[in-house]
Amino acid sequence: MINFRDNVKKMDGYQPGEQPPPGSKVVKLNTNENPYPPSPQVMKTLREFDGEWLRRYPDPTAFMVREVAAKIYGVPADWVMAANGSDEMLALLARAFLEPGRKIAYPMPTYSLYITLAEMQAAATAEVPYDEDYNLPVEGLLAAQADLTFVCTPNNPSATVAATKDLERLAAGLKGVLVVDEAYTDFADENALSIVSRYENVIVLRTLSKGYSLAGLRLGFGVAQPALLEGLIKIKDSYNVDSVALRLGAAAVNDQAWMRTNVEKIRASRAKLAKALEQMKFKLWPSQANFIMARPPGGDARYLYLELREMGVLVRYWDRPRVDDKIRITVGTEEENQGLLDALKKLIL
Ligand code: PMP
Repeated sequence: MINFRDNVKKMDGYQPGEQPPPGSKVVKLNTNENPYPPSPQVMKTLREFDGEWLRRYPDPTAFMVREVAAKIYGVPADWVMAANGSDEMLALLARAFLEPGRKIAYPMPTYSLYITLAEMQAAATAEVPYDEDYNLPVEGLLAAQADLTFVCTPNNPSATVAATKDLERLAAGLKGVLVVDEAYTDFADENALSIVSRYENVIVLRTLSKGYSLAGLRLGFGVAQPALLEGLIKIKDSYNVDSVALRLGAAAVNDQAWMRTNVEKIRASRAKLAKALEQMKFKLWPSQANFIMARPPGGDARYLYLELREMGVLVRYWDRPRVDDKIRITVGTEEENQGLLDALKKLIL
């Protein structure tokens, strides 16, 4: 008998969004990928890639890419750690701070990987509900006093942001570590990076998967004071960032203009798409991300998700409390968004 740990036996595992095979003729608005290509500098670096860099192990400290990221974030290089996507940063945090008898807290609904990570570590969970407007439930999270508190901002799936002053109150009042997951922050008006310099118990997570169009590369960062990064560096795989990610990641971060241009296009499309959905009587939450959470008129989100899928348009749907009457739509190109709206017009009278 294959005898997994009890909590592994019990858990379901994280369910990623559907990834149809490359070349499939679908409008893919289900996993918050950036619809525009990566920077030409990234593609040039890839074309000129030297086989010698693959023959050797990569730099275990990922200095090349940490150095450029640190400059952009305005912190010293030893305040930045690199990982195989921000998902790896989340997993390292769970492994470093959670075990049976310890507790994790997060507002709900949020990124469901947090739950999976808590289950993996057999840790206790405190799930604190957001109100209908998705204000951060600061008091509830403070009352939980967890060893690890995860806040996603802009939040997945609501796309709403946590006010920086609320995050600061949390940071000041928590004895444990506060993780601010800013995977979608490139599309937002404000971010919480500055808190890191004032609180030694805060780590801000960033990724190249969204703003930089590099979800396939797998590169993310943790930004925190060195004392917090120290324990995470101890438990990471030595070569968690490969030689391709190192060099392509550095090229991507160096080309801020490309990222910004695409982000501005997506923000403009987001406003246009939101307006069209509202005209179709969807209820929306104010989006600061590259996706929109939308409650269809009547609330039969599951029907809409399945019908859209039949018509070749993928959006995200969860059969879970508080989100089962909503769909999450990634903002695509103008053509993709129009494809979605055309399909919706056939389904909603
Ligand atoms: N955080 C949130 C809130 C996300 O939605 C995602 C993407 N699914 C991630 C982190 C992970 O991003 P990556 O590992 O690609 O950096």
